[in-house]
Amino acid sequence: MQYFNSERSLNTNVQLESLRRKVDGIAQVTSRNNTRQEEIEHAALRLSQRLQRTLDIQALLQFFCQEIASLVPCDSTSYQNLEQNLGYSYGSIGTHICQYKLELEGQYLGDLVCTRNKPFGDQDLLIIESLTGALIYPLRNSLMYQQAVNMALLDPLTGAGNRKALENAVLREQNIIERYDTPFSMLMIDIDYFKKINDQYGHSAGDKTLQSVSATIKNIIRQSDELFRFGGEEFVVLLNNSDVNSATFMAERIRLAIEQVETLCENESIKVTVSIGVAHFNKTECMEHLFNRADRALYSAKNNGRNQVKVAA
Ligand code: GH3
Ligand code: MG
Ligand code: MG
Repeated sequence: MQYFNSERSLNTNVQLESLRRKVDGIAQVTSRNNTRQEEIEHAALRLSQRLQRTLDIQALLQFFCQEIASLVPCDSTSYQNLEQNLGYSYGSIGTHICQYKLELEGQYLGDLVCTRNKPFGDQDLLIIESLTGALIYPLRNSLMYQQAVNMALLDPLTGAGNRKALENAVLREQNIIERYDTPFSMLMIDIDYFKKINDQYGHSAGDKTLQSVSATIKNIIRQSDELFRFGGEEFVVLLNNSDVNSATFMAERIRLAIEQVETLCENESIKVTVSIGVAHFNKTECMEHLFNRADRALYSAKNNGRNQVKVAA
């Protein structure tokens, strides 16, 4: 089977310049000559105008893929940006690939891959490149916006989600449950006697300890699970698609792992333990109730001697 692989790096300055020329041209063209070339130019212009109306990267890529599909039959179009951990894919993968590395003034914007079971011809590539030219600036703006949003939702010390991110995630989970009825659980994790760490080793050693506790939890949970810093030395994990047994098992793994970790700070080796409250979401309760149950389970773990997991009633 013939295998076509076109790997191009779009020089966007040239590309945008040519797009601009095409766009200028369109203003002067009357509908007399409705050639294929004009169709492409109109599509690029239409796409460019449409893409400028949104900063939502998913909507942006959806418009883009739809427009490509209307002019070049593709089995799949996908976009990936490993630096920002973004990936979108539409359709199922074909045997022929055309791939572009997207850059703007030296800034990497991601990789675009179109596939289909029939080879791509020069005309197909021309269309894809013309449309990709219209994508570049809106994509750059959308990535910058995405970065700013992410920063606003992250705790700067630990890189875990902050409280606002937790609120958003809880609302999202609630919607998912209403639609798909998938179970989820919450772990409320609090470092034991953390005040003593600050008192004994200093505030920056305390900060380092918070970072290693956060990193340890992140390493253990699944990619689909989410970690948040709820408050000072308190963390919340949302476990998707998890019943009470698997949530308790996960909590126990986290507890054991943290018990083993040593945080090194100025020749001192700091060890901490955590207490964890586990609550499985009950469909009839509100989110506040779930938080309260997890909190009560945590309180019970503390009262019972710390460094342990308790499951909410
Ligand atoms: P318990 O086992 O009952 O949870 O005791 P604890 O000492 O962990 O709890 P307490 O609430 O008494 O103390 C929490 C401490 O966490 C007090 C606060 O100074 C410290 N803390 C909160 N945020 C930070 C932070 O960002 N950095 C550092 N280094 N310390 C923090
Ligand atoms: Mg504590
Ligand atoms: Mg606390």
